[in-house]
Amino acid sequence: MLRLAIQKSGRLSEDSLKLIRECGISFITSSLKLKTESTNFPLEILYLRDDDIPGYVADGVADIGIVGENVLVEEGMQHLAVEQLGFSKCRLSLAVPKGDPYEDISDLQGKNIATSYPNLLQSYLDEKGVQAHIHTISGSVEIAPSIGLADAICDIVSSGSTLISNGLREVERVFKSQAVLIANGGLNAEKQEILNKLLFRIHAVQRAQKAKYILLNAPNDKIAEISELLPGAKSPSILPLAEEGWSSLHSVVNEDDFWEIIEKLKDAGAQGILVVPIEKMIV
Ligand code: ATP
Ligand code: ZN
Repeated sequence: MLRLAIQKSGRLSEDSLKLIRECGISFITSSLKLKTESTNFPLEILYLRDDDIPGYVADGVADIGIVGENVLVEEGMQHLAVEQLGFSKCRLSLAVPKGDPYEDISDLQGKNIATSYPNLLQSYLDEKGVQAHIHTISGSVEIAPSIGLADAICDIVSSGSTLISNGLREVERVFKSQAVLIANGGLNAEKQEILNKLLFRIHAVQRAQKAKYILLNAPNDKIAEISELLPGAKSPSILPLAEEGWSSLHSVVNEDDFWEIIEKLKDAGAQGILVVPIEKMIV
């Protein structure tokens, strides 16, 4: 049995549970429960505050966990990281009241900065050679300048709308973050094997998220040219259509590449192009 710690309720919770479900792992959730056991995979889920997750994994109370890199690195636990999961993307940024003159980081020399991430902020300031007073507060950082507690703040930003609504302007990006899978370094063989199985499934899910299945019709004399445009997992599958001289080509494309090749496919004579999502992808 492997124990996974995830955030009980917050910005990581939903996507963490979604990833586990997409891996085909079933469990019953209840907002009142502190832990649940999967009904079809040797996994137990603990629901914790995100800040506590790295510590619990380091101590072995949980074997693995999902947490933001911002919290992991702030707590000096980056050695636990196994891999980035691609969700809960955000950044830690410095912001100043929007009317304040600000040209570069040297403007923060000697200023008061409020943050919940003193370590990440300190290393950024050290790197830039700036000395400032860091006020560590645990929440509502964005109101610190308006109540006179600080000249600037360093806080998590995703769209930036919270900053704007508090009359602040983002001026420096201190740290880029996303959710990361972490693991205790001393897992026994049984637990390591379960983790490997879980990672295999996570990779299949992640690969599928970027990949799209593409189907198109093409005249037979254009198959070679179109196949060149479709890198695919291997070469495209080619099936004859009922209409003489035409075939259907099936392949896999990366979503990012798709928009680039679509015009070329049409120019090469492709018709009836369908692009459909892939649920799992094993290579
Ligand atoms: P807890 O009660 O568990 O301590 P919290 O209030 O500290 O929760 P949340 O606000 O739920 O934490 O954020 C959890 C993590 O989600 C953050 O550490 C960060 O990695 C990520 N995150 C925070 N804000 C955003 C955002 N606006 N968009 C995307 N991800 C975010
Ligand atoms: Zn927290």
